[in-house]
Amino acid sequence: MIEHPRAKNGMTGAVDIGGTKIAVGMIDDTGSVHARLEAATDPEQGYRNALDRITTMLRQAARTAGCEVAGIGIGSTGPVDPMTGEFGNVNFFPHWQGENPVRDLESRFRVSAAMENDADAAALGEAAWGAGQCKRRLIYVTVGTGIGAGLVFGGELYRGVDQAHPEIGHHLVDPSGPPCSCGFRGCWESLAAGPAMVEWFRAKAPAEHPELATLTAKRICELAREGDALARRAVEHEVQYLGLGLANLVTLFAPDAIVLGGSLMKSSDLFLPGIRNLIRQCCQYVPFEKTELALASLGEDANLIGAARVWHHRFPQGGTSRA
Ligand SMILES: [Zn+2]
Repeated sequence: MIEHPRAKNGMTGAVDIGGTKIAVGMIDDTGSVHARLEAATDPEQGYRNALDRITTMLRQAARTAGCEVAGIGIGSTGPVDPMTGEFGNVNFFPHWQGENPVRDLESRFRVSAAMENDADAAALGEAAWGAGQCKRRLIYVTVGTGIGAGLVFGGELYRGVDQAHPEIGHHLVDPSGPPCSCGFRGCWESLAAGPAMVEWFRAKAPAEHPELATLTAKRICELAREGDALARRAVEHEVQYLGLGLANLVTLFAPDAIVLGGSLMKSSDLFLPGIRNLIRQCCQYVPFEKTELALASLGEDANLIGAARVWHHRFPQGGTSRA
């Protein structure tokens, strides 16, 4: 590994921009978190306000960690343009479209910066420092309020035409399925993300069910563990549709590993045995038994650690200016 001049007292400033919160941290060259701060995204306060808060938090994190900021990596809910560093038309902060946190943070900190979609960032983090280490063909899938995925082949992030981030959460699983945020029906996300599990349960439960108003996917998993019959069926439904999407990935890519993260995977023991069964049935034409189905190992900070890895991935020699 080539050591760059600031490696001894420098760490990567990481910025994870989500729909509801922004996390900032200082991450060393082994992926360990040395300082961490977070604030509400508050998109209605405007982009400049968020940029000022990110700047303040990065400076504070560097002071806490006792280090300099050697570079800045950003993971953001998409769409973002990884090459220009601009936000696209992001659902959660549509008024930030065209703003450029990469350029702005580079000018404030006088270091290089890079941004990726947050699923790509987490995929890079798991590939380098987590459950995907030493896997040549790695697919990272996060299952929570949506389904996101990133593909890392030979250590490089897979990009589509025009640097596009492939939208694996919107691959079609059942054309007769529920409507999706993208305008189509039956996308993987619309059938197997957390809210889909809740919707399925609500549609089947009696109107007087006491928990309908406050129901979450996490609660459905708890009810299933307590033996609730409908919750168990909801888990079976989830196994079927999460499993079909994963089986499609196994058939399409025959990867070394699929690493699974996101809030739903906290209950992975309820899903994985059934999903493995389904893959065994669906994927006969590829060596499915060689694809490892692993859980993400970077935990709650996977997105933040991944954001730091975005900078390493873009500037493998620790560049101090944009390539
Ligand atoms: Zn869709």
